[in-house]
Amino acid sequence: MTALGPDAVRRREAAPDGLNAFVSFADEADDTSSDGPLAGAWVAVKDNLATLELPTTCGSRILEGYVSPFEATAVRRLREAGGRVLGKTNMDEFGMGSSTESSAWGPSLNPHDRDRVPGGSSGGSAAAVAAGYVRMALGSDTGGSVRQPAAFCGVVGIKPTYGRVSRYGLVAYASSLDQVGTFGRTVDDAARLLDVVAGPDPRDATSVEAQPIQHRRVESLEGLTVGLPSEYWEGGVDAGVRLRLEAVREALREGGATVTAVSLPSTARAIPAYYVLAPAEASSNLSRYDGVRFGLRTDAPDLASMVRATRSDGFGVEVKRRIMLGAFALSAGYYDAYYGAAQRVRREISDDFRAVFDAGVDVLLTPTTPGPAFRLGEKLDDPLAMYLQDVFTVPPNLAGLPAMSVPAGTVDGLPVGAQLIGPWWQEATMIAVARVIEARIEGGP
Ligand code: GLN
Repeated sequence: MTALGPDAVRRREAAPDGLNAFVSFADEADDTSSDGPLAGAWVAVKDNLATLELPTTCGSRILEGYVSPFEATAVRRLREAGGRVLGKTNMDEFGMGSSTESSAWGPSLNPHDRDRVPGGSSGGSAAAVAAGYVRMALGSDTGGSVRQPAAFCGVVGIKPTYGRVSRYGLVAYASSLDQVGTFGRTVDDAARLLDVVAGPDPRDATSVEAQPIQHRRVESLEGLTVGLPSEYWEGGVDAGVRLRLEAVREALREGGATVTAVSLPSTARAIPAYYVLAPAEASSNLSRYDGVRFGLRTDAPDLASMVRATRSDGFGVEVKRRIMLGAFALSAGYYDAYYGAAQRVRREISDDFRAVFDAGVDVLLTPTTPGPAFRLGEKLDDPLAMYLQDVFTVPPNLAGLPAMSVPAGTVDGLPVGAQLIGPWWQEATMIAVARVIEARIEGGP
């Protein structure tokens, strides 16, 4: 277990080459460590998971200084398992972004190259693990926010099946897509933290009474079918990333797996559908920040202008863009054309996945992202280019499937992630395959 505590990490982060991975630190002196599967381990927690002592700001000025009166179930479970919260990690504002650049507290930096983004929105968590500050971190994944930063930072990131982990105390972005996920330096680290936080919770009606994950270690992949969705492998993928993915494919073949091409024909429509559905849900979820109940208030002569002034001051440009997109998509006369159509695409995406899994595919292998970490500022003025970062990570969220990113080596010193997507509730298979990739590609933990 890593020896670094909040004081040591705070000192490192205060140095000129600090990563801005954290927005607050726990008080080391207050800590009472206990027994359990995480006994004594420091864990970093994304700043959209409610904690009792530390503020929960979601990277937004509108929640500056806000301290929740209750604790997220995932955080409580990690503490009850003996884990210790080291601090809260930086993130894109309310989870909206792929680089942490939309955080009101400034971007985090990628530890592999400080001119580049760590990915997002859980970029602080991924950077903290990659920098060796912690072995494990919690994040959340609505359209790729655990897997994409894991890929950019060269760590493991798991987004479990929708319903596997309670969302109680996870500040809502798009509730039908949001899921708490875990980061680890190794597959074992990420899986161990997932086991601790998973399980039904009476406080979240969408959490599901499912069989716990039945982990298994496999020596051989004999009898296992790995599907390669052609839509994810053809075109649009950086040549270096493709080479790394081909190496993973060969490693799985050598490990005994049957590798077969499959088709998920609706894939191209996932991004347009996601960028209707997620903003639609966000526009409703974020209506609660009105200057009355939480965080920031900008005073004004009457209630309506106070709300307007607070929201104008408190939200950043990307959040405002999403609220407007979402409100438009839900408005009378456009509801069927946008929201209804997007819901139908969502069903088709889900049906595509179901068909390949029903046909005998055990797990899908894809790149996690089209390219390695991009430069700070590179995509800031081009929201569509930023949204296209999510092209491979969004479909599993739309379908509610478990998916993870596992390191697949580097291109010019920058990490590349391989994404595994499994059938609903089959995290165990996906994680077992990830261990094989880890052992064969990275040389093991
Ligand atoms: N980048 C995606 C978005 O901006 C996904 C973010 C996430 O998973 N929270 O919506």
